[in-house]
Amino acid sequence: MEHHIISLGAGIQSTDLLLRGLDGAFDKIPTQAIFSDTGNEPKGVYRYLDWLINYVDKEYNFTIDVVSSGTIYKDALSYMNGERKRYEGVPYYTRNPITGKKGILRRQCTADYKIRPVRKRIREVTSKGDSISLWLGISYDEMQRMKASNVRYLTHRFPLIEKRIRRIDCINNFKAKNIPVPIRSSCIICPYHSDKYWIWIYQNEPDNFDAAVTLDEKIRNYPKIQGECYLHRSCRPLKEVIIDLIKGKELASKQLNIFPELIEECDGLCGI
Ligand code: SF4
Repeated sequence: MEHHIISLGAGIQSTDLLLRGLDGAFDKIPTQAIFSDTGNEPKGVYRYLDWLINYVDKEYNFTIDVVSSGTIYKDALSYMNGERKRYEGVPYYTRNPITGKKGILRRQCTADYKIRPVRKRIREVTSKGDSISLWLGISYDEMQRMKASNVRYLTHRFPLIEKRIRRIDCINNFKAKNIPVPIRSSCIICPYHSDKYWIWIYQNEPDNFDAAVTLDEKIRNYPKIQGECYLHRSCRPLKEVIIDLIKGKELASKQLNIFPELIEECDGLCGI
């Protein structure tokens, strides 16, 4: 049996991939779309996802499957409080207070919270010997993000790249269909956010920004790490940095934009 499954991040590219796929823009029609919920997306992403679930149900009689392996924020706090043994794997920035040397922790969160739940669901709905193609919403202008599957039972496919569809084409497609354009999808607490994105969270979702600040303050004494951890690349308290930025101060160490503004979502490959 053939499966054509979309890894849905609910950002611009993967949502466009789903809609184009259901409209028959590619040689196959998607058989399933799976969204892996880290429990820590901006409210705007959840609002959009709810809208999209209803839209594709009504327009295409298609069901979006939402899976999860837990809430990354809650798990991060539980690990810090000693209530959870397994670390959440977020790539926090580190700074040795004596030498001043900076670093970054190994990223495990993408695998645990984005990739694993999707693959688990795929294994549940497929049988041994089935042909499984996992469609990833990477546009032509982001083709450097393409990665082959590292498991034998499924292959990755990049239909937007095959058709040379760019991010702007995706946006234009939403406009042509007269439907809302999604906002960027990624965890609120993601250390890869650009300053621009942190400011967006501060201004648009203040309670989520406060929650990120709470975690940022908690991770100073991260277990088994020599030095202090931070959500912001400058290795300064998040609140202080963002307030300085808003007041227009230049930052000594600008937040490296690992998620360049054109990369909209942690779709299981997390942009790097
Ligand atoms: S968005 Fe960031 S924090 Fe969330 S899973 Fe991806 S890399 Fe990890």
